Amino acid sequence: MDYLKTKLHELMAIDSPTGFTESATDFVMKELEDLGYNPIKTLKGGVQCCLGGEGNPLIFSAHIDTLGGMVCEIKSNGRLKLTKLGGLQPNNIETENCRIYNRFGKVFTGCFQMNDPSVHVNNDYGTQARNFDNMEVVPDIVTSSRKETETMGISVGDIVCFDPRTVITESGYIKSRFLDDKLSVVILLQFAKMLKEENLKLKRKVYIYVTNYEEVGHGCSSALPEDAVEIVCVDMGCVGSQVQCTEHQVSICAKDSSGPSDYGVTTALIKAALEAGVDYAVDVYPYYGSDADAALHAGANLRHSLIGSGVYASHGYERTHLDGVRNTLSLIKAYTTEK
Ligand SMILES: [Zn+2]
Repeated sequence: MDYLKTKLHELMAIDSPTGFTESATDFVMKELEDLGYNPIKTLKGGVQCCLGGEGNPLIFSAHIDTLGGMVCEIKSNGRLKLTKLGGLQPNNIETENCRIYNRFGKVFTGCFQMNDPSVHVNNDYGTQARNFDNMEVVPDIVTSSRKETETMGISVGDIVCFDPRTVITESGYIKSRFLDDKLSVVILLQFAKMLKEENLKLKRKVYIYVTNYEEVGHGCSSALPEDAVEIVCVDMGCVGSQVQCTEHQVSICAKDSSGPSDYGVTTALIKAALEAGVDYAVDVYPYYGSDADAALHAGANLRHSLIGSGVYASHGYERTHLDGVRNTLSLIKAYTTEK
């Protein structure tokens, strides 16, 4: 797990909210090239790579874009109003440090706060609604007006990225924002590395496809390998009150908000998990859309399913466990390689 832990820290340190993923996809391109593969970057900025094998081509997709923010207004007090990129919840980033990227290479730091956040002067602090009207980015520059902030180089349309706070504990828990879905990207890199180093033989042709617009619904909607017959998204597994999966398992999604996963593919994944002794849970995700749905809605003629390490507190400060990662990798291996 050393490679995976190192690459997870490295990738998490590269900000990649949806619409601002170039540096992160460059990182994936280089990793795959270093492992001896020939990845290509799509026009839309995703990374596609054939891992080898012959016949019955399968795509494993994972998305590298995350939640984030964009400056939509420079307020009269010089602070910044945000609009969300993807499903960012304002309460989940309260008091989080951030970076503001302008379009000319300058990066500013700041913090996302309630308007008037000092409890010694604002008696309503505890009860005020946490939303983008009541909250603002306080940039770490000396400013008290819109003009001053603009003069420093911050503009409407600048990208705001939140600190992922990535921690891997001694007990094996992985805590970070944006495990959705950068963890799965690293799992696929680890699989690509295992194929080379353990001399595993693929029993079918396998592609990986790292997409960069999943959080806004069109990651996998184009540039799929033309000969593919199947797509398995590797994305976070749901953990919570209505589902069975834990952070220690790999989740297999039987149905999400768009409808059932392909019956045959999902059953084959379950059988592969059973045969290989993988700790898994089959679940129905109540509020979930995936890149496979994006592919199918765009007209792709593919059988589809979804697997992933169980992730607690999704779209917040997320947590999973190395057990869930291991089980996801074992399922990918069992499903695609000769025994
Ligand atoms: Zn996701």
